[in-house]
Amino acid sequence: MRKNLNEKCAVVGIFGHKEASRLAYFSLHALQHRGQEAAGISSADGKTVHTIKDKGLVTHVFNEDKLAALSGNNAIGHTRYSTAGNDSILDAQPVFARYDLGEMAIAHNGNFTNAKEIRRSLIKKGAIFQTFMDTENLIHLIAKSNQDHLVDRIIDGVKKVEGAFSLVFLSRTKMFAVRDRFGFRPLSLGRISNGGYVVASETCAFDLIGAKFIRDVEPGELLIFEKDKAPKSIKIFEPSPKHCIFEYVYFARPDSHIFGKSVYQMRKNMGAELSKIKPVAADMVIPVPDGGVPAAIGYAQQSGIAYEMGIMRNHYIGRTFIEPTQEMRDLKVKMKLSPMTETISGKSIIVVDDSIVRGTTSRRIVKMLKEAGAKEVHMRISSPPTTDPCFYGVDTPQKDKLIAANMSVDDICSFIEADSLAYLSEEALLASVGADDDRYCTACFTGKYIV
Ligand code: AMP
Repeated sequence: MRKNLNEKCAVVGIFGHKEASRLAYFSLHALQHRGQEAAGISSADGKTVHTIKDKGLVTHVFNEDKLAALSGNNAIGHTRYSTAGNDSILDAQPVFARYDLGEMAIAHNGNFTNAKEIRRSLIKKGAIFQTFMDTENLIHLIAKSNQDHLVDRIIDGVKKVEGAFSLVFLSRTKMFAVRDRFGFRPLSLGRISNGGYVVASETCAFDLIGAKFIRDVEPGELLIFEKDKAPKSIKIFEPSPKHCIFEYVYFARPDSHIFGKSVYQMRKNMGAELSKIKPVAADMVIPVPDGGVPAAIGYAQQSGIAYEMGIMRNHYIGRTFIEPTQEMRDLKVKMKLSPMTETISGKSIIVVDDSIVRGTTSRRIVKMLKEAGAKEVHMRISSPPTTDPCFYGVDTPQKDKLIAANMSVDDICSFIEADSLAYLSEEALLASVGADDDRYCTACFTGKYIV
């Protein structure tokens, strides 16, 4: 099945700052972890909307000349997550369109769950699509709406789509930000110190550009940014928070505050809970870098077992194209993660990672550590078994590829050849994020889908 192409992305919007596109660029740089496939910025100077986007990392796509060409006081930006298959430049965002009210650009993080139905009905009525992105549906819905003002057309459009979306829109003079009623994906509002506003997927973008966090864009809320006015809020949907718990587990950056809480603290809590419910005697706790680091710190602090760096990560490997043989595949893993042999040789080790998806990473890590002389390897996973795919914007494979959907914990332990394997329970995960209510979407661990 073809994947949707708005998954796990980052969006940003800068309004009312003379260096808008430059601030969008820096914000996207801070949000690069949310997508490395493509990057783009649209800016508006009052008369026209300019767009530059391309495949590649933010620093590869933009340079001085390009940022200078993105003139104007308002800008939106996007980084796209790498998905299998299509890597066409057409699927980079923001998506730009001319329509009867002028020009607009849209950047989208999330997935519309009814995208196929909408597309089918639009095509039947003669619409022509250029990309595979859900976002293009929304452009058509907005362009076709009978309303006289863009804001009403946006409301019209987003009322027709379902699923997960954190969206930013740019017109020639205004900016809009919308979050779905469940608030699946994060989106925060900040104030830039020398004037203007910022919205971004994560607050780590605010820190980089010297902006102050004001609040989250509420689930179901539309924010309208107009020159010389405070942002205006319209409630489009009755909020019904179901924040993606996997943002806390893996996806967001530890220095961000999302859904009102510190990602780092949530991950440390998960590690501490894991140590309480799944203790094991060992010489040291080591993380699988970088994802497992905060949970491993939490595990070590709670258990009193020494925290060590047992695996070194090379951050500069980018894409490798050496897959054909098993030998080459093993080499590829070692290019990314190498054992700290002196530290781990002869030792019993607790290895903490945030999740197991297909099981490939854990299996290779256990093998690598054993080859480096580890006496015992105990895998500890700071989330419950990933049993179900995500339809709301996180890139998880089909159920048949998810190891925990098809094997028991004992069988997974044998498969990865660890001395023991244990996961965090659903209850302990919720306790870690301080929730005894149902404010979180846990579908990837429970199969309980919301829409
Ligand atoms: P796997 O080898 O398929 O079991 O993948 C597990 C590893 O992938 C773990 O180290 C996770 O940190 C990481 N991971 C989990 N979810 C995702 C995701 N949606 N995209 C990329 N990496 C992920």
